[in-house]
Amino acid sequence: MNKIFNTFLQQLTFRRQLSITVALGIFFLALFSSLMGSWQSNERVRRDLIEQGQRITENLAHQSSLALIYASADNVVEAANTTLTFPGVINVEIQDVNQHTLMKLGNDRSDLSMIGTNSAAKLQGAIKDRAATDGRTGPASENAASSLPAISLNAAVLVAETKNEWRFAAPVYTQPAAESPFSAQTTAPELLGHVFVVMSKAALTQTTTDIFVSNLITSFSFALLILFLIRILTGRMTKPLNELSISMGRAKAGESQVRAVLTGPKDIASMAHAFNSMMMVLEEREAALRVAAIAFEIEEGMIVTDPDEVIIRVNRVFTQLTGYSAEDAIGKNLGMLKSDHQNEDFYSRMQKTLHQDNSWQGEIWNQRKNGEVYPEWLTVTAVVDKERKITNYICAFFDITERKQAEEKIHNLAFYDSLTQLPNRRLLLDRLHQAVASGARNHTCAALLFIDLDNFKILNDTRGHDIGDLLLIEVAQRLRTCIRDSDSLARLGGDEFVVLLNELSEDRTQAAVQAKGVGEKILNSINLPYLLDNIEHYSSTSIGISLFADYQQNLDDLLKQADTAMYAAKKSGRNTLRFFDHAMQETLETRSQLEAGMYKALPNDEFRLHYQVQVDSNQRVIGAEALIRWERPEQGIISPELFIPVAEDTGLILPLGQWVLQVACTQLKEWESNPLTDQLSLAVNVSARQFRQPGFVKQVRDVIGQTLINPARLKLELTESTVLENITDIIAKMHALKQIGVRFSMDDFGTGYSSLAYLTQLPLDQLKIDQKFVHNIGSKASDSMIVQTIIGMANNLGIEVIAEGVETDVQRNFLKEAGCMLYQGYLFGSPVPPEEFMASLTPNSIFS
Ligand code: C2E
Ligand code: MG
Ligand code: MG
Repeated sequence: MNKIFNTFLQQLTFRRQLSITVALGIFFLALFSSLMGSWQSNERVRRDLIEQGQRITENLAHQSSLALIYASADNVVEAANTTLTFPGVINVEIQDVNQHTLMKLGNDRSDLSMIGTNSAAKLQGAIKDRAATDGRTGPASENAASSLPAISLNAAVLVAETKNEWRFAAPVYTQPAAESPFSAQTTAPELLGHVFVVMSKAALTQTTTDIFVSNLITSFSFALLILFLIRILTGRMTKPLNELSISMGRAKAGESQVRAVLTGPKDIASMAHAFNSMMMVLEEREAALRVAAIAFEIEEGMIVTDPDEVIIRVNRVFTQLTGYSAEDAIGKNLGMLKSDHQNEDFYSRMQKTLHQDNSWQGEIWNQRKNGEVYPEWLTVTAVVDKERKITNYICAFFDITERKQAEEKIHNLAFYDSLTQLPNRRLLLDRLHQAVASGARNHTCAALLFIDLDNFKILNDTRGHDIGDLLLIEVAQRLRTCIRDSDSLARLGGDEFVVLLNELSEDRTQAAVQAKGVGEKILNSINLPYLLDNIEHYSSTSIGISLFADYQQNLDDLLKQADTAMYAAKKSGRNTLRFFDHAMQETLETRSQLEAGMYKALPNDEFRLHYQVQVDSNQRVIGAEALIRWERPEQGIISPELFIPVAEDTGLILPLGQWVLQVACTQLKEWESNPLTDQLSLAVNVSARQFRQPGFVKQVRDVIGQTLINPARLKLELTESTVLENITDIIAKMHALKQIGVRFSMDDFGTGYSSLAYLTQLPLDQLKIDQKFVHNIGSKASDSMIVQTIIGMANNLGIEVIAEGVETDVQRNFLKEAGCMLYQGYLFGSPVPPEEFMASLTPNSIFS
């Protein structure tokens, strides 16, 4: 822009200077010519004045000649006086041949002669003397004048010149004798003397000055005329140029609204037009820039980056919000603002949207210079060129910390209880919906625990609401410690709380046990003493539990059920829990009794091991499986199906499993000492929890060491659930036991989440086809097929295969045909006490 202005201004200046130079040139030329003219006039006047002086002098010389001729001094004086009347004549002087001044008169008629006395008289005397000498007397005749010597004899010359005067001289001659009226003889003219006339140069100076002044005036007038003409001639050009120049100067000074007047010659007018067009564009751009600048300084943080996200511009609000000054930010990558609240996935999705739509907006957490992470609402716009290539990114953002806090506050007010900060009924229902959704997906059970403090009203009435509030806050805290993070706790109002237990077991009974466990934990926790504002207080609570797996159930109904169960708990004396489902309540009560009984059963020696025979395809006994029985004094024999799960839940399975192993190995040792049974092997069931306990390998080793059995005759039966978790540890344990000779069988094979992958990893010796499949042989084609597949797979893997629950010949024959040569089931013998087992054996029935 400046360049254009400069070129414009240069052209204008050049044109102006050119016209001024031309005008001045003409002026000086005129002045010079007038000076020359005045000098020439001066010379001419001088010449004229000298000529005049010469003529006057000649005339005086001539008159003097006459006077001398007539010997009339008066005539000479008269001639001299006449001469003095001429302008400029200062004085006249007459000298004789001896250069003695005969007469000298000043123009003021003063006698200037050196003689000092009457000059006329003196002259008269001198003339008379002369006449006497010449023999002349008397006045000259009348015609004598006609015989005057030729005036040319009196030729005057300029003899001296000073600064102010000229001095002319002319000779004075007598007439030749022949021509003389006094003498007839002709003689050569005789020099009588000289006349001198001194003339002032004043006339010349005056005239020259006058001429010079008049010439000067003429020159000036002429020059002014010329200038005026130039001005008129160039005025048409310079005026618009000047105006254009002024306009440009103003434009250069920053006035964008300035416009040039469209006058003058065509090219200047078009130049002005171009200037105006340019100024209009400039004004528009300036306006656009002003708008952009104002827009850029709005109350939002603004960042402009290049396509590589390098910051090239930021505004004032950016600095206010981030703490980074423009100098801090410019040249750095946008990444400087990133926080680790968002992962790379977030940013790549953002980039994808930007490339697709050229814009992105949303909530993002960024980091200020002081490290504080804050939420902002960010709008990113990609600026693209004609080729749709991104040239810049424009980011506009504002801090939404306050908005988020307000939202959170509103959310808290809407969804949380202000006293305990626990979720309210509304949020609880929302979470119930979520629990229902995830439970439906995972096929798990969930439970609602309705918790109501006992006698809370009494505390409130006697100690006041403040103390009551303190208790509620403390209860809320204790409840929090009783549940998992995935569970929910809410306060419905007053002294009513609700706990939602998510993702309990798939098995309803198991889930009930879990819910009961949490309920009891809550009861115990609430029972602990409170210190409320230095007042010691004891409290209890009643809990109603509603267990659900039916996710179609109405959520309000579930709450009502739990509430009803809670009233049942209150009715039964408070400080207790009740299930809404009566059958469930009964099951749990039975379970509780079992649990309580089991703690005493082991020290009371109420457990027995029964043995069930295992045979080969020739029906010869190859071994047995040890199966535990609980002989309760009053209730009789209890199935392991009932008490083993309880023992696992309570941890009793560990001492119980140890007992089974001990008894089984003792039995095996006994068999070893009997030739009839010394070849038999014994399978012992090991539960998952038992196998996973850290000291299990040592436990087995110790028992083997104590009983001194042949470890090869001991077969440990694991279930698939055992190997589902932490398979590396399980394999390591199996290898450790296999090293001492112990063998492994996979019990109930086919019912769990069997996977070929783990099957090949585990050092198994035997697969035991689950009795459920065996039971369906011949009646359910798919189960028959599963049986065949398991047998084929085991054979292919080189693993022994045995079928349990074989009750019929059909089953046995099918199994044999499919390639399974080992069997266990009622067809060959039920589980029986050891004595009975021994009694059932004959030498023929034993495989050896
Ligand atoms: P299991 O290990 O699969 O045992 C086989 C179960 O099938 C036994 O039930 C047995 O009595 C039964 N059974 C045997 N032959 C037949 C048959 O032909 N038809 C039918 N319908 N059933 C037959 P039991 O003794 O009630 O044991 C149940 C489960 O309890 C066992 O299943 C085992 O998982 C567990 N168990 C038994 N004793 C122990 C033990 O000492 N420790 C551990 N951890 N679990 C044991
Ligand atoms: Mg078994
Ligand atoms: Mg089994």
